[in-house]
Amino acid sequence: MDLGLRGKVACVAAASSGLGKASALELAREGARVAICARHEGRLQQAAEEIARETGGEVLPLVADVTRAEDARRFVQAAVDRWGRLDILVTNAGGPPSGTFEDFDEEAWLQAWNLNFLSTVRLIYAALPHLKQAGSGRIITITSVSAKQVLPNLILSNAVRAGVHGLVKTLAQELGPHNITVNAVCPGPILTERLQSLLQRAVETQGITMEEAQRAWVSQIPLGRLGRPEEFGAVVAFLASERASFVNGALLQVDGGMIRGVM
Ligand code: NAD
Repeated sequence: MDLGLRGKVACVAAASSGLGKASALELAREGARVAICARHEGRLQQAAEEIARETGGEVLPLVADVTRAEDARRFVQAAVDRWGRLDILVTNAGGPPSGTFEDFDEEAWLQAWNLNFLSTVRLIYAALPHLKQAGSGRIITITSVSAKQVLPNLILSNAVRAGVHGLVKTLAQELGPHNITVNAVCPGPILTERLQSLLQRAVETQGITMEEAQRAWVSQIPLGRLGRPEEFGAVVAFLASERASFVNGALLQVDGGMIRGVM
């Protein structure tokens, strides 16, 4: 299937590693020109070189922190300055810390809100005029299965990401008339640095081994294994593609069947 991504311009936020990087890689593999951002220059540069080497595509790295409005604007503008248009926005950020209600204070809630909700809002504000100008567009936001089924010890993620799903469903209504689709992709346990650090924390706080910590996740997944970042990236590339032109307002799990709810 030709995804129709050749020549499209995409901004993928928080993409020096993990799911963001895998999404950027897959978009580049399909012929899109891809701008990526993250906070640390060295790793970002390395990711950009890796994607360009592997795909032969054009990759623009820009150091930017998505918790800052000015950085989000600079990131999107850099892609538009380089390529003259924007077709696809993938919003993403690091995950909030794990813990239960009494582990956190109001400041922690504000930080999680800023990192995982407002970052999405500010990237969309930055991208929207350009998507409208292009006459069509794709907004894909990386959330979590935690917004569909709460996960133990992840209260910040559980609560804040549900708000992002409310945003996505509303924007799908508001932006549909502009031929812009808005969808969320909800990862289940996929082996990235983020998951490694959650596993490590479980080892430290619960006195279990790394194998036991992994088994606790895997036992909830019908496919009987953790996901791979490229399996996630492929879904993002599909949603970004011409082939997904009638998919709008979807909150799509990539979780090996972990979520049991019917909605
Ligand atoms: P990761 O930690 O492997 O990668 C996160 C990326 O975001 C890195 O490139 C990092 O440099 C960048 N980043 C972090 N904070 C940033 C900021 N403020 N500004 C710009 N860049 C920033 O994480 P991941 O596994 O790829 O996860 C991506 C998102 O998906 C996270 O929000 C995570 O909580 C969520 N998620 C992941 C899983 C999983 O199993 N991997 C499951 C559910 C949800």
